[in-house]
Amino acid sequence: MILPGATLGMLGGGQLGRMFTIAARTMGYEVIVLDPDSDSPAGKLATDHVCADYQDPAALDYLAKTCAAVSTEFENVPAATLEALARKCVVRPGARAVAITQDRIHEKTFLRDNGFPTAKFAVIRSADDLAAGLAAVGSPALLKVSRFGYDGKGQARVGGLEEARTAWEAMRREPCVLESLVPLDTEVSVVLARGVDGAVATYPVSENTHAGGILDITVVPARVSDDLARAAEDMARNVAVGLDYVGVMAVEFFVSNGRLLVNEIAPRPHNSGHYTLDASATTQFEQQVRALCGLPLGDTRLLAPVVMVNLLGDLWRDGHAPPWAELFAHPNAKLHLYGKREARPGRKMGHFNVLAATGDEALATAVAIKRALGGGSGRG
Ligand code: AMP
Repeated sequence: MILPGATLGMLGGGQLGRMFTIAARTMGYEVIVLDPDSDSPAGKLATDHVCADYQDPAALDYLAKTCAAVSTEFENVPAATLEALARKCVVRPGARAVAITQDRIHEKTFLRDNGFPTAKFAVIRSADDLAAGLAAVGSPALLKVSRFGYDGKGQARVGGLEEARTAWEAMRREPCVLESLVPLDTEVSVVLARGVDGAVATYPVSENTHAGGILDITVVPARVSDDLARAAEDMARNVAVGLDYVGVMAVEFFVSNGRLLVNEIAPRPHNSGHYTLDASATTQFEQQVRALCGLPLGDTRLLAPVVMVNLLGDLWRDGHAPPWAELFAHPNAKLHLYGKREARPGRKMGHFNVLAATGDEALATAVAIKRALGGGSGRG
């Protein structure tokens, strides 16, 4: 076990790294953040911020010498970085799990080979693959770039071969996945942690609504049947076991015609798990510290029904912050801001959680607050 007083390393200084840093420092660990951005949300709160590229040998050397263990807050960290660090210190999750989840082709292939249901997909590596792919998955379909896409970026809806060709050219002929567009009843996700000893702790299923490809609202408990919730938890657990995963991860699902399809795996805490910051016995970030340090996993019990709403930069009009007094008027609304200086449309600036006696009450209050802050009503 790596105990308080030790120094932990975090690759990436965004909001996920920041909330990890807060949890770790609360528990008595020191944190070193590696991020090339001199103004990163996590770097500001860390014991030390190494402002360098993720492949900078001197920075990695320093991290390996100083840290008892290193984790990551984003999947695009080069696998070579994790491998280099792993030769000198504890790295969780491991390079293999990150390499699979950072590349849609590897991820979907892993899921298919291990018997997990997904939307129909085809791998696109050449122009010839487009016609065969469309014939296999049908249209309309979604063309998704295999690497470095997120929050709906690097995706195009295509109705036929001409559109597919144009979209693929626009993606600079990068390797892609062509995926059938499935009808969505709803979307759910499961955040879980797997410890070094193989123990798994799942959080309750989140029900997620997206707007413009970005998570908008999460409702917990999800309004789905107990059977479906249990099936999602079991599938997520089996994905973690299949990846031999250690750390916190999330599995996102489509619910399509009553069936679960795995959409994506995130090798890190997840936006749909931010409700745990106020509504769970153990937050997903404390859990990340526990898994990283080889401590027993914490209790994932839900303490109250909760709704989380993302706060995007669109709410900052002409540089003015939203009217926070509208939020603070509600005693069960909890604001989390990430310390980002510049608000841009679509940029995640923070989120808030609303706890209530029932999910319906939490949702009604959350939607009212969102509206008062200047956001759309959300579908909830
Ligand atoms: P992704 O970045 O792949 O998670 O996609 C972002 C969002 O786009 C998802 O959460 C869904 O709302 C929607 N989406 C992505 N892929 C599909 C699909 N194959 N069928 C229907 N909706 C999709």
